[in-house]
Amino acid sequence: MRVGVVGAGTMGAGVAECLAQAGHDVTVVDPDPQAVDRARARMRDSLRLAILLGRTGGPKPAEVSARVRWTGEMTDLRDTTFVVECAPERIDLKEKLFAELDRLCGPETILATCTSGIPVDRIAASTTRPEQVVGLHFMNPAPLKDTVEVVRGPRTSPHTLDRALALLASLNKTGIVVGDGPGFVLNRVLMLCIAEAAAALDDGVADAETTDALFEGCLGHPMGPLRTADLIGLDNVHDTMTALRELTGDDHYRPPTSLVTLVEAGHLGRKTGQGFHDYR
Ligand code: NAD
Repeated sequence: MRVGVVGAGTMGAGVAECLAQAGHDVTVVDPDPQAVDRARARMRDSLRLAILLGRTGGPKPAEVSARVRWTGEMTDLRDTTFVVECAPERIDLKEKLFAELDRLCGPETILATCTSGIPVDRIAASTTRPEQVVGLHFMNPAPLKDTVEVVRGPRTSPHTLDRALALLASLNKTGIVVGDGPGFVLNRVLMLCIAEAAAALDDGVADAETTDALFEGCLGHPMGPLRTADLIGLDNVHDTMTALRELTGDDHYRPPTSLVTLVEAGHLGRKTGQGFHDYR
């Protein structure tokens, strides 16, 4: 299948890799040439890592890379039959992109969003094909995560849902279908958990190491909430909380002081080497 990916950031690069690995022809659009360079490098490293980890059954890294075309032009998505949008978590931007995709793509094309929490129906409303819009909330790093939160908007058709689940099956991933609403299930819960963990830090109750050690040691979570935030990217966590607060009116989603301070300082978590924890 010819699949488009909008955005060559953390998620766009990971989703493009999964698609190409499964044999799809992928076109990734990003207006920032530096983001494209970083995404190419990230994909190369990820494909090498897969070999180091012994995951050698699939196509060779060079074959996977050759299936991905990188571009700065949205018009290059004209011939795609499925698009996964992975642009920044801003409502106005996603609405603009979906209106553009709706104009550009053929009438059969399914438009999916990887949004962390903006209701799918809000995004679908900027198109003339709301029944062909669906949420595919991949996890990071996408090549290593087997399960995807699939969001069925109130107007998403059964046919669209079937095609989305079939695409995931082709990637050897399982979709778990949930209804629409700010944050869906995962981020409705996770963002509150991260916000409270950061608030405990701000209040001097526990440092980041201690909070994560509690979740990891006492509850058996593989990663505590602050380490999870560092993995997601603190800019993305900040934008997701801001969007959820705007959408729900619930102040519990207000980004806590320590999170705002880190983002303003350019400490965005693992991707910059520093966040709630130090990775340098
Ligand atoms: P990111 O900031 O790493 O990447 C976003 C990319 O979009 C950047 O490369 C940027 O140049 C590009 N972009 C900006 N404007 C664009 C435009 N007009 N057209 C095309 N590309 C454009 O963000 P990310 O972490 O990859 O997140 C992308 C989406 O996935 C967000 O909606 C986010 O909430 C969601 N998401 C993120 C994670 C995570 O762990 N990071 C997990 C699940 C879902």
